[in-house]
Amino acid sequence: MKTIKDLEIENKKVIIRCDFNVPIKEGKIVDDTRIVGALETIKYCLDKNAKVILMSHLGRVKEEADLEKNNLEPVAKRLSELLKKQVLFSPKTRGAELENMISNMQPGDVLLIQNTRYEDLDGKKESGNDEELGAYWASLGEVFINDAFGTIHRAHASNCGIAAHLPSAAGFLIERELNALSILENPPHPFVVILGGAKVADKIGVIENLVTKADKILIGGGMAFTFLKANGLEIGKSLLDEENLDFCKNILKDYSDKIVLPTDFAVTNEYTNDEEYRVRTIEDFHSDEMGLDIGNQTLEEFKKIISTAAIVIWNGPLGVYEFDKYKKNTCELLEYIVQNNIKAILGGGDIVAAATTAGYKDKVYHASTGGGATLEYLEGKQLPGVEAIK
Ligand code: AMP
Repeated sequence: MKTIKDLEIENKKVIIRCDFNVPIKEGKIVDDTRIVGALETIKYCLDKNAKVILMSHLGRVKEEADLEKNNLEPVAKRLSELLKKQVLFSPKTRGAELENMISNMQPGDVLLIQNTRYEDLDGKKESGNDEELGAYWASLGEVFINDAFGTIHRAHASNCGIAAHLPSAAGFLIERELNALSILENPPHPFVVILGGAKVADKIGVIENLVTKADKILIGGGMAFTFLKANGLEIGKSLLDEENLDFCKNILKDYSDKIVLPTDFAVTNEYTNDEEYRVRTIEDFHSDEMGLDIGNQTLEEFKKIISTAAIVIWNGPLGVYEFDKYKKNTCELLEYIVQNNIKAILGGGDIVAAATTAGYKDKVYHASTGGGATLEYLEGKQLPGVEAIK
């Protein structure tokens, strides 16, 4: 796969597909992490005197009412502060006004085009990768850089569509993500996978793809209970994914030496943070209780297993980390990883959110930001955005 350094971009019109899908409330950006993340690629292009044309989606646009709340203009303002230079903004995603703005650009200018999903109002042209739209957007530039990892698992006009018509490469963000995740193609051993989160259903693809490669799969979170139930154990009122009981039974039968299940839990009677903190072993689980976190005995067992790991990949929290009491052992395992310099990749979504709030995100080997994109990578699927660059 080509990366930004492989392309001639000096003085060229460079289209960069960014991920500016940031939370905006009443016209104000609540968290600008993604904008800051895009600066490296943008600045590299500016150093090469390129004319930088930025594109991104923001939220979903299904009806007229979605237009104003998903207006990308506040991003242009924030970007302008961060770059300490004017960032032009085109309120339209196509047409003479946009084309004029681009033809008036000088080397070193930056222009942000309105939310690409404005084109979804008219027959899902962006999300449906409309051929004409991709060709039109490509006609606005000379080179295409994709730096939006969060949408790389989708074939949209603003990534695959444009890439089909221009010399294309990955920006620094995508390059870093893929470099880190590619270790899983031929992982060093012992290779340990930690899986948590709510539902077995969401993780079936990951389990199927990684169970043959991994030496151990440690299972926590709500999904552990379906595995325990499959083993015939009492799980009380804990989360159960009934439809996937057979899947769990089969995995346990085929890979009993690899799958490690929790043996104790922090439990409550109701789904709340308000009850007294108490722990039960799986043997004395009460039928009117539910498990909201793994217990200390399990935590110690998980620590022991990862202490010798050459690489750990972790997707999904081990408990209800949104509740103060039940984020405990997700945080303790993260701390153990950081303190012992264990090479770990946090595979997107809620485990990265948990690590961010606990202050560990920047201390682990790699925290993948992709959400759905990371999950599809872990499932071993081809990512259309990567294929398009190739
Ligand atoms: P996922 O998106 O599949 O990674 O799931 C993350 C969600 O799993 C979080 O919202 C957690 O609150 C939830 N979760 C983790 N452990 C449990 C548990 N023991 N019971 C219920 N939900 C859980």
